[in-house]
Amino acid sequence: MHKVPKGMTLVVGLGISGRAICRHLARHAVPFMVADTREAPPGVDDFRAAHPGVALHCGSLTALDLSEAAEVVVSPGVDPQAHGLAELSGGSDTPRVVGEIALFVRACRGPIAAITGSNAKSTVTTLLGEMAQEAGLRVAVGGNLGTAALDLLAEAPEAELYVLELSSFQLETTPCLGAETAAFLNLSEDHLDRHGNMRGYRTAKLGIFRGARHAVVNAEDAMTWPEASLPAMDRFTTRPPEGDEWGIARHEGGDWLMHGAMPLMPIEDMGLAGRHNQANALAAMAMGHRLGFSHEDMCRVLRRFTGLPHRSETVADIDGVRWINDSKGTNVGATLAAIDGLGPTLAGRIVLLAGGLGKGADFSPLGDPLARYGREAILFGADAGRLQAALAEHVSTSRVPDLDAAMRRAREIAQAGDCVLLSPACASLDQFPGYQARGEAFRRHVRQYAEEARHGS
Ligand code: ADP
Repeated sequence: MHKVPKGMTLVVGLGISGRAICRHLARHAVPFMVADTREAPPGVDDFRAAHPGVALHCGSLTALDLSEAAEVVVSPGVDPQAHGLAELSGGSDTPRVVGEIALFVRACRGPIAAITGSNAKSTVTTLLGEMAQEAGLRVAVGGNLGTAALDLLAEAPEAELYVLELSSFQLETTPCLGAETAAFLNLSEDHLDRHGNMRGYRTAKLGIFRGARHAVVNAEDAMTWPEASLPAMDRFTTRPPEGDEWGIARHEGGDWLMHGAMPLMPIEDMGLAGRHNQANALAAMAMGHRLGFSHEDMCRVLRRFTGLPHRSETVADIDGVRWINDSKGTNVGATLAAIDGLGPTLAGRIVLLAGGLGKGADFSPLGDPLARYGREAILFGADAGRLQAALAEHVSTSRVPDLDAAMRRAREIAQAGDCVLLSPACASLDQFPGYQARGEAFRRHVRQYAEEARHGS
């Protein structure tokens, strides 16, 4: 058994976040070594070049004696309940297990605005970052999106605000975040393979409120409400607001974003489409208001921001069929939002391309909306069979091996007025390096189809 030397920090996981943890510890002259459960983790060469002389252990963690380590810092991809780590949790004579965000909190000098939820994190994080910029703040945006949190500290040590997207994995290893404002946007099934059940998943996400001075929660989703009271709280809803909620109500003949009785802007002026994005805009405004941004600055951002790539992104309209890339729809809640947002706007029906790794989710909530709006669900990848079992009684289904075959089938069956929607309700890792690669494959094929249509082939 290898002993981690006395007083040394052990970093577990050599992925992108793990390497950011190593850089942070090196900058702060904290002695550390690294372990990865894979025999040959990717990124070893980069690691060795960046940290010559730092020990690396590859293989099972149970082969390490951690009893004298100062602290164990796990990457978000590593389960703190994994063999070799679970035994450490809690005991006073064993090192603490924390994650990268705990290190961030210790080193950060500016206020933190933090965002979590099953869906819409990246959209709200980006909106709030743009609003901060519009308000003239030096802002650093990252975390689970873009730049790793610890790298933000190195790139922008003097930032006046850190806007962080945080996953349940990052939150479960953060003892106290202490955010100036923290939002929990929504909760639907995801990552049950890791958290075990919805309770564990929700508990991890509620960690966003530990030490927070202000909370933003979804009035329509009680699962997002904190269990202990907080100094201040704002609620958002897509219904007419009650009291000083952020909501949507009729005004001057149209639907407007509202703060209590105060109209903010007509939703038709927003760059983003769909009811779910109106909720996202209201959540960002509630946070921005707390941070002192003016309504004018925030509305300016909402007028120009049209969305991030791979989130319900229209790629092309070919012979009356719209092809939409929602590759970031990696769980059932996201795919539901995409179908419900799109379905009522179509002259035709939705041809849904779904499949991949379902992470243990229940797919049955997709049945009703597909019965209402679907032409066919074309299913591919590892969990195609489970999807088919859940959907076949609601909508016509077909099973194909991969996305390429799914797109060929979609091209055959889609009719003018229809929309071919890639919103897989699953992670992509069985067949792609990530959701971006899956979305790019979709875009590539669609562009090819558009080219062929132009040349009449
Ligand atoms: P995250 O970072 O949480 O994955 P994104 O902003 O990247 O969130 O959006 C991911 C997916 O979630 C999108 O593809 C979209 O279809 C869906 N989505 C966006 N906003 C909402 C919402 N308010 N409720 C449910 N689903 C949403």
